[in-house]
Amino acid sequence: MFDIKNVTRNNIFRLTPYSSARQEFTGEANIWLDANENPFETEVNRYPDPYQIALKTAISNLKKIPVSQIFIGNGSDEAIDLLFRAFCEPGEDKSYIFPPTYGMYEVSANINNVETVKINLAADFEIPECSAILKQIDSKGLLFICSPNNPTGNVYALETIAEIASNFKGLVVVDEAYIDFSNRESAISLLEEVLNIVVLQTMSKAYGVAGLRLGMAFANEQIITVLNKIKPPYNVNSLSQMEGLKTLQNRTKVLEQIELLNSEKAVLVELLKQIPSVKKVYPSEANFLLVEFKDSNKIFTTLRSKGIIIRNRTLQIKNCLRITVGSPEQNKVLINAIKEI
Ligand SMILES: *Cc1c(COP(=O)(O)O)cnc(C)c1O
Repeated sequence: MFDIKNVTRNNIFRLTPYSSARQEFTGEANIWLDANENPFETEVNRYPDPYQIALKTAISNLKKIPVSQIFIGNGSDEAIDLLFRAFCEPGEDKSYIFPPTYGMYEVSANINNVETVKINLAADFEIPECSAILKQIDSKGLLFICSPNNPTGNVYALETIAEIASNFKGLVVVDEAYIDFSNRESAISLLEEVLNIVVLQTMSKAYGVAGLRLGMAFANEQIITVLNKIKPPYNVNSLSQMEGLKTLQNRTKVLEQIELLNSEKAVLVELLKQIPSVKKVYPSEANFLLVEFKDSNKIFTTLRSKGIIIRNRTLQIKNCLRITVGSPEQNKVLINAIKEI
């Protein structure tokens, strides 16, 4: 049985949160003299809504999940850090990751003095058999599953995620930063049944507003309440809340761009496969491709000298580079540059 008290650090469970002016009075008023703000109106002279209700309501309608099950952070990175601070006792609980994966989980664990246990993905980047990993996940803490995975681009079955979560004493964090590029169903659909899952999504990738820093966490209401309790009161600024809302209201543009990027990805795959220096293009359900070259460092440095920057993942996966799908023009330049090497 899920009990929030069992997964939350004791000091956090007992914490009395800071109560900001905008939390203490939320009704209608004509004169606001409670927060020591500057009274001369501009778009930003007032503190932002601490709970981002307008933005969350739009997300709630889109994702079909109640506002009470949504947390918005200053990027997913903030949500990841807050998850560590709330649910991992430093020096005691552990964090579990499946490398090669997103580097931020381990960095955030280190910042919070939480040990990271690495369970390597199998050769095809699949998660090892559940029976094999169950022996290793004996501690409380956080277990991260990135799906589609960065940098490999593959997705994990919801059944696998649910099975791991049902056998884990801590919280399973499913990072779906790239889910909008995939046709797969989100792990949000598991939240009703499996109470120790947190789903992360972001507006930095498919939604095209990385500069706004808007990350979302979806979970059962008790988990969201803990995150709200420890977040900086005004963690999402007014301009980001407004622009984020506008982005959601113009969903057609987002969907058109996703379609274009996915078709560009398919074109890139075909063109890359014809280039002799390319050994393998991994299948991807994200907006990037993991590509194995005969000599990845040569490709990487030559492209860089031409002002084309891709991501060198050779240290994680031998001879592999990660290439973000760009605009049609950018992709043409990229392909021609690789052909010339
Ligand atoms: C890009 C990315 C994010 C997004 O982080 P933000 O802080 O929301 O910009 C999260 N997880 C993964 C795996 C990513 O690749």
